[in-house]
Order: sequence, then structure tokens, then C-alpha cells
Amino acid sequence: MNSETSQIATPAPAPLIDPFARPITYLRVSVTDRCDLRCVYCMAEDMTFLPKSEVLSLEELDRLCSRFVELGVRKLRLTGGEPLVRKNIMWLVQRLGRHLDSGALDELTLTSNGTQLAKYADQLADAGVRRINISLDTLDPAKFTAITRWGNLNQVMDGIAAARAAGLAIKINAVALRGVNDDELHRMVSWCGESGFDLTFIEVMPLGEIGEQRLDQYLPLSMVRADLEKRWTLTESDHATGGPARYFDVAETGQRLGFITPLTHNFCEACNRVRLTCTGTLYMCLGQEDAADLRAPLRASDDDTLLTEAIEEAIGRKPKGHDFVIDRRRNAPAVGRHMSVTGG
Ligand code: SAM
Ligand code: SF4
Repeated sequence: MNSETSQIATPAPAPLIDPFARPITYLRVSVTDRCDLRCVYCMAEDMTFLPKSEVLSLEELDRLCSRFVELGVRKLRLTGGEPLVRKNIMWLVQRLGRHLDSGALDELTLTSNGTQLAKYADQLADAGVRRINISLDTLDPAKFTAITRWGNLNQVMDGIAAARAAGLAIKINAVALRGVNDDELHRMVSWCGESGFDLTFIEVMPLGEIGEQRLDQYLPLSMVRADLEKRWTLTESDHATGGPARYFDVAETGQRLGFITPLTHNFCEACNRVRLTCTGTLYMCLGQEDAADLRAPLRASDDDTLLTEAIEEAIGRKPKGHDFVIDRRRNAPAVGRHMSVTGG
């Protein structure tokens, strides 16, 4: 390339725009429905996972994600299930890293339970991943095993240490669970403060049958925040992600604290995201059943014309918002699929 052409930057594609004038710039991809843990609020103990034949290959996932990037998506998040238990997942991460190199993608990131991070943190950093969300609901080893049904806290702590050593910025996600970790939330704020991690508390969401009583787990974050404000000085931050989190700066620690409150807040106006499952189903909203099958057009031809049409048609019916309710009469999930399908 001569010096003249190298200075002409490729213009970023105009993003897909939904019917409510929201640009769709963020794709979350569940790369597997499988997981090495069974968090009580997320999965039943005896989950039936998808047969491998239904799951997109890593090559197909690369093709789909890359098409979204060509259509204006600037941020990709790999999730699951547990993304790092998918065989050869680093191949996909490295492949997608080429869009960071070209400037087409601003960010490639993951949400992980941390169990495999000791093994993968360096490779993730080498592939261009700069930040990672790690889910951790408790700092107590026995409680961790109870919440995850069999997990080992030390393994996750080793993973967190490896991520930190690899230079990845870390955000801890903790689901606030009544009667489970509500006595530890202050401790988590100080631990994250000392460690240099941001922290986000998540309200439990009514997704999928899990064989537990949702109403028992539900802890409104308005209560959590009021309690935290007795000890910490929280100043609302203008940090916005287009997602369901509200952020505060914690004066005492200098770290950020977020609250994800899908049940008590309407966060849909600025929604910039869609979610792809590992079978190629695109959900336009976490809280609605409507979805589009992208696997059929993907497999129908090597040319991307049908796929592009299917994506554009799907974005054209992204709904205005969700209607989550923890139904007090039925106590049934508002949406039947589990979080491990769409990855949160
Ligand atoms: N396995 C990875 C992990 O745990 O980070 C990624 C997938 S997990 C489904 C993504 C996030 O969803 C985690 O932070 C988890 O705590 C959260 N989650 C799962 N089920 C949930 C539920 N019913 N309500 C709220 N958050 C949930
Ligand atoms: Fe696995 Fe993540 Fe669900 Fe826990 S929250 S069972 S780690 S997918």
C-alpha cells in the first residue's frame, strides 16, 4: 500500500437502525449453552444441553459475527453458558481479533465465570481483549460452592489473578440474592475497591424454569443501594453503555459501581444491542420471545445476501421494550428460555 492510500481510512459502515431509531452497534454472542457450573438462579441441576449438531461451528460463528461487524456493530461480547469451556474457543477469539486490528471493531470482550481464566488470560490479552466481565456472587468459599452447586472459589480467584496479571481490566458482576449474599455486599465493594475492579450488582431476572423459588431470591437493588449508601459515598456517574446498568463513582475506593435493575427500571430507550445464540437464533430483546433464525440463511449459501436480508429484517422488528414481571400469582418465568441461552 502506498502512503497516499494508507492514509485514507475506510469509512465506518452506517449502523443498522431499528424502528425506534436506535443504532444497533453491540452484539452479544452466546457461543455455547454449556457450562462447568450450575448457578442456582441460572440453571437447573439436571440441565439438558443442545446436541452438538444444532450448534453453529466456530467458523459459522466467525462468519455471522463478521457480517454484523460489516453491518456496523462496533462491540462484540462472547458469553454463554461459559464461553471458555467451548472447545477451541481461542481460535474464534483470535479470528475476531482481526476486526480490532482493522479498526472495524472497537471492542471484543467476554463475560466469564472465571474458572478457565488461569489457562486463557494471556491468550485473550494477546488477541486484543482489553476488558473482561467476571461473574462472582460471593467471596465465601462455602457459599460459592452452594450458589454454583459445585464450583471452587480458589479456581476463580486464580483466574482473576491471571486476568489481572495479563493486564485485562476487570469488572465483577454479582447477582444480589436475598438471604444468600446480602450480608456480603459491603465486603464486595471494598474488595473490588482494593483490587481495582469495577463492580456491578444484578437483580435476579425471571428467565427459565430453574426449580427454585424466584420470589425467594429476588432482592430489589433499590434496597441494596440504600444500604450501601450508609457506608459509601456514591455519586451518579455519566458513564453510559446503552445497557440496563446505572453507574456510580464510589468516592472511598475510586472504582465504579453499577446496578442492573431490569425489573424496576425501564432501560430500553437507549438499547443498542441484540443477542445471538449458539444455534444462530437472534433475539432482538432479552425480555421478549420474538426471534429470527439466522442459521438457515447462513447455511443456505456461501454468499451473504440471504444472511444480510435476514439480519436486516430482524432488526426491523426489534421491539420497543421488554415486559419482565416476577408474577406473584403464577410465580412463573416471564420468558421461558434460560439466561445461559442468550448469555445475559
Ligand atoms: N457463564 C458466564 C458467567 O457466568 O459470567 C457467562 C454467562 S452468564 C448467563 C451471564 C450473566 O448472567 C452472569 O453474570 C450471571 O450471573 C447472570 N445471570 C444468569 N442467570 C441470571 C438470572 N436469572 N438473573 C440475573 N442474572 C443472571
Ligand atoms: Fe454457568 Fe454463568 Fe449460568 Fe453460572 S451464570 S450457571 S457460570 S452460565
